[in-house]
Amino acid sequence: MRYSGWRVIKEALTGHKGWTPAWSDPEPKDHYDIVIVGGGGHGLATAYYLAKEFGQARIAVLEKGWIGGGNVGRNTTIIRSNYLLDGNEPFYELSLKLWEGLEQDFNYNAMVSQRGILNLVHSDAQRDAARRRGNAMILNGSDAELLDTDGVRAMYPFFNFDNARFPIKGGLLHRRGGTVRHDAVAWGYARGADMRGVDIIQNCEVTGFRIEQGRVLGVETSRGYIGASKVGVAVAGSSSRVMEKAGMRLPIESHVLQAFVSEGLKPLIDGVITFGAGHFYVSQSDKGGLVFGGDIDMYNTYAQRGNLPVVEDVIESGMALIPALGRVRMLRGWGGIMDMSMDGSPFIDRTSVDGLYFNGGWCYGGFKATPASGFCYAHLLATGRPHEVATAYRLDRFRTGHMIDEKGQGAQPNLH
Ligand SMILES: Cc1cc2nc3c(=O)[nH]c(=O)nc-3n(C[C@H](O)[C@H](O)[C@H](O)COP(=O)(O)OP(=O)(O)OC[C@H]3O[C@@H](n4cnc5c(N)ncnc54)[C@H](O)[C@@H]3O)c2cc1C
Repeated sequence: MRYSGWRVIKEALTGHKGWTPAWSDPEPKDHYDIVIVGGGGHGLATAYYLAKEFGQARIAVLEKGWIGGGNVGRNTTIIRSNYLLDGNEPFYELSLKLWEGLEQDFNYNAMVSQRGILNLVHSDAQRDAARRRGNAMILNGSDAELLDTDGVRAMYPFFNFDNARFPIKGGLLHRRGGTVRHDAVAWGYARGADMRGVDIIQNCEVTGFRIEQGRVLGVETSRGYIGASKVGVAVAGSSSRVMEKAGMRLPIESHVLQAFVSEGLKPLIDGVITFGAGHFYVSQSDKGGLVFGGDIDMYNTYAQRGNLPVVEDVIESGMALIPALGRVRMLRGWGGIMDMSMDGSPFIDRTSVDGLYFNGGWCYGGFKATPASGFCYAHLLATGRPHEVATAYRLDRFRTGHMIDEKGQGAQPNLH
């Protein structure tokens, strides 16, 4: 069934009796050509592009819970293409271009909203760094504008411009960045993949890999053994735990990242803002809630909830930037597990086991990467070669010395 305005009108006039489930609920088959482990944004996008762009068939996505229950449904919905390094920026620019056509491509309303992202700067050194980043973005086909204080004031007059400790000296504006309704992305890709014959199997946890003579033959699951010619893992925060079952130790640590939403307010913030002097970023959802977050909790964990010190840190930073926030009531907070890599950049690569592929290490920036990650992973699975914008995302890059350390923090995952 294609969705359209006419379809909505027709269904409204006929009692909404014609809607069919957006994806089916098949029993697992004995064998697939390609099994994707993990029904998050990346796994579902991979299956979608495998079927749509790379002509692959007999594909299954195995999800231990329900699709959209992981980080794809827990993030703060921000998309952007404002990276500095050559290993990253062409990849994220491809992703943003795919976002720009995504709703028409998969025929689903994902509420893609290019409302602009403003990264504030509070010192001369930060302004220099922002200028350098902006130039790198433009060289890679993205967009960037450097604003001075008056330019920022014209957009957001309610910032605390007179705070002597954190003076606002301008900002880097990326107009094509914005937000996308996160769970609609999972649903849209799931529906698109299902329409092209992909089996989306929920409540099916992968508990092990069957590997013989260095080649993967299939996966053990909570619903029995499923054979596969190729297996692509895309389990985000569970990466280390799942790949351990194939005998691999990854350059990844798991940390929790929290986010928060306030009560619904009248329109106040029409873009995405990041504070440059503390850990705080904010946008306003279409329901009116302020959606905001900050840094990860600094310890390793698989618990999907965080602790109060980070709540305090985020709110404190928010108050320093927007004092009026003190009158807003916070509605709820939640957490998701981040697969933090040693250099803050991801992996899309084959592994030492034939037929077993890995996609992960997305840290807290993997939502914006969803379309390009799916596309490039599908390219790798279908052709055996990395896509040209994802050649740097190798698992052996720490051994060969080709780190992609966007923040220049060194091998400390919690700082990226
Ligand atoms: C609070 C928060 C805010 C964030 N904000 C942003 C943001 O604004 N912008 C941005 O770009 N990124 C953001 N991120 C990061 C982004 O959400 C993640 O990097 C991205 O969603 C990870 O990819 P995914 O969607 O495939 O992950 P997930 O949705 O987590 O998918 C992985 C799936 O694998 C499944 N799985 C795990 N183990 C198994 C198994 N053994 N068998 C079968 N299935 C398994 C899980 O159940 C899960 O559904 C944020 C994350 C959080 C938590």
